[in-house]
Amino acid sequence: MLTVDNLSAGYGPVPALDDVSLTAGHGEITAVLGANGAGKTTLLRTISGLVRARSGTVSLDGRPLTGVSTEDLPALGLAHVPEGRGVLAELTVEENLRLGALGSRRKTTAADLRRIYDLFPVLAERGTGLAHVLSGGERQMLVIGRALLSRPKVLLLDEPSLGLAPKVVVQIFELLRGLVRDDGLTVVLVEQNARSALSIADHGVVLNLGKVVVRDDAATLAADDGLRHAYLGF
Ligand code: ATP
Repeated sequence: MLTVDNLSAGYGPVPALDDVSLTAGHGEITAVLGANGAGKTTLLRTISGLVRARSGTVSLDGRPLTGVSTEDLPALGLAHVPEGRGVLAELTVEENLRLGALGSRRKTTAADLRRIYDLFPVLAERGTGLAHVLSGGERQMLVIGRALLSRPKVLLLDEPSLGLAPKVVVQIFELLRGLVRDDGLTVVLVEQNARSALSIADHGVVLNLGKVVVRDDAATLAADDGLRHAYLGF
């Protein structure tokens, strides 16, 4: 279980995250929602140490992550897929995938790759081709697959649906649901697309101006008309 307690962070004088707490359970998807600038990306970046916490703590299964250097986090079970789908365009799909295991200091085995190719058959088809020919959806699959190669307990996913066709979003979200169900993965999903995110999440946390406005189970949040109109945009 990932536990975030009273986390605050910012950029220079700009406070971006103010006293945020959440727990993301084993085998659950927790959606982090809110408008542009609400602090969603900063929350993920602070959990993974890319932004320094001003106060508060983060722990994974009771083990403190605060103060652990970012490059040591994969070995402790935390993987972060930032927004933007960054891949090394001049490497092949498989070479990009193999990079995922580096952070966890594990060797990538043929079985590891097969598991990713079973999850994303399109990556198997494209394995020896250069990553720059991939579509947006395929790139998103590649960056998720790459993160899974470190065998994380917790996957932090930032805006995976951005700019993708609705059909592709459904495909990726169904896959996440399967990973959570079958492998007990814990997912913290940051999304502007609140409707889709709540349709697959177990729980949700809504941020506004860096603070938690409400947290509840996903179905309750999705059924709250006032909340949807005020903060979720659907
Ligand atoms: P978006 O969906 O637009 O990415 P968000 O909810 O993820 O929004 P953040 O990107 O975390 O929000 O931004 C939270 C606040 O921090 C905003 O006021 C933003 O302008 C500010 N901010 C984010 N990144 C930086 C930065 N590198 N330097 C200064 N301020 C920043």
